[in-house]
Amino acid sequence: MLNTVAHNMSVLRDKDTVEGMYIDGEWKVSASNNKREVINPATNEVIGSVTEGTIEEVNQAVIAAKDAFYKNGWKSTYARTRADYLLQIASKLEERKDEIAMLETLNNGKIYDDSITDVEDAINQFQYYAGLATKPHGQTYEVPDEIQAMVIREPIGVVAIIVPWNYPLVMAAQKMSAALAAGCTVVVKPSTQTPLTLIRLFEIIDEVGLPNGVANLVHGSGSVVGNELINHPDVEKISFTGGTSTGKQIMKDAANTLKKVGLELGGKSPNIVFADADFETAVDYALLGIFAGQGQVCSAGSRLLLEKSIYDKFVPELVSRAKKIKLGPGWDDTTEMGPLISISHMENVLNYVEIGKEEGAELLCGGKQVTEGDLAKGNFVEPTIFTNTTPDMRIVQEEIFGPVLVIQVFETEEEAIELANGTDFGLAAAVFTNDGAKAQRVIRRLQAGITWINTYHPTFNEAPWSGYKQSGLGGDLGTYGFEEYLYKKQVNIALEVKPSGFYKG
Ligand code: NAD
Repeated sequence: MLNTVAHNMSVLRDKDTVEGMYIDGEWKVSASNNKREVINPATNEVIGSVTEGTIEEVNQAVIAAKDAFYKNGWKSTYARTRADYLLQIASKLEERKDEIAMLETLNNGKIYDDSITDVEDAINQFQYYAGLATKPHGQTYEVPDEIQAMVIREPIGVVAIIVPWNYPLVMAAQKMSAALAAGCTVVVKPSTQTPLTLIRLFEIIDEVGLPNGVANLVHGSGSVVGNELINHPDVEKISFTGGTSTGKQIMKDAANTLKKVGLELGGKSPNIVFADADFETAVDYALLGIFAGQGQVCSAGSRLLLEKSIYDKFVPELVSRAKKIKLGPGWDDTTEMGPLISISHMENVLNYVEIGKEEGAELLCGGKQVTEGDLAKGNFVEPTIFTNTTPDMRIVQEEIFGPVLVIQVFETEEEAIELANGTDFGLAAAVFTNDGAKAQRVIRRLQAGITWINTYHPTFNEAPWSGYKQSGLGGDLGTYGFEEYLYKKQVNIALEVKPSGFYKG
């Protein structure tokens, strides 16, 4: 673990550098000359600045991607060639793993070990989809009428990839690796708050010599750059990860050109603990479920559903351990929870704490920003737990996206399932019990795309990731994520070449 400030800061660029966009194989600064500062959420100091793209530059990137796809033949490169590029990207990410992980920590605030896991995930995504690119994709069907029917898969075209700030590298890498492996070309828009690690990924893309225009990077706001990508007639698919309200807007806007839309959205995921669960394990994962990533994880276990008979034993232990969680900057190897992404996001989270109190929930711990010592400069919020909640409260229904856990109490299995499914979201869910049949029974009735039994959070690039209800549409990862970037074309071949005989004249 690298834990000296001097070493941390060495991954940053000179403070006068304005980092560029990558369009058609060239690095460029926006013609507008506008730039945006990038902030370290642990200190609120400026750690970089990035050029701010315009509508015209989105257009340039999309045209470059369109030409690379249709005119310059990326769509018909050998799968083996595409796979080779992806493997080269993976090995160069491996070489720069420590640098990129530290940069993610400085930009996003997450603890360094989590950033390392993110880079390793991204490496694995490029490797996984390199493998999938060359695997068989077609099918043939037994059909009547002396026809040979088959399906071939073809890349969709130009894909706009729009990602949030909580997993800046991984969210983009999982979409880019699948899209490029499928033969699509991409225009990527990072969050304005966390563009730095994607710039390093595109340096790697440049180094491996991916043909011009195959992968493009444009910086800028959702309302300008994002909106233009959604409305551009030459973008054929949107692959979006972000908030549910943004996802709804994107779906509406994309309807004008009937783009294919993939949406990975928010959550309010239930973590159900039955009385027969292993106590230590359940307490531990209740904490990890919500406080990992400061609660800024789409699949966070933000609702703890607790069986009433263990409430009096479970809650004091949970609260006592939450109070001991060590807050600090992500580059300190003793830190257990880092800062929130921005001052405005922190204010939103703290506002939810006030809403919870006004609604009549009982605050058991936390609920405040750290305002003393070194951490006062950053966006640090104490681990927060509410109890005495009712299902209709806003703190129970809405995604807070911070270190705020709400406890809901149940007495029967039926009630647990009803509470668990009682929000508009359906991203993730977990069940803790030592009764295997009960675990399976409950999991089958939960409306959630990612579920766990007796654990929380582990997921794998090999398995699909997608939300039920208002948590998403389509999905990423695994073979399903690959299919998102492919049209399926039906090809019917006459086995005997002869007229149909339908017209008698
Ligand atoms: P956000 O919706 O505010 O922004 C996400 C991205 O969309 C950003 O790049 C933003 O600039 C862009 N954007 C905003 N408005 C746009 C518009 N009108 N048109 C096009 N692009 C637009 O989300 P955020 O605050 O960056 O991220 C947090 C959210 O992401 C949470 O709700 C979280 O649950 C969700 N998330 C979901 C998953 C998942 O896999 N389901 C994973 C990570 C994060």
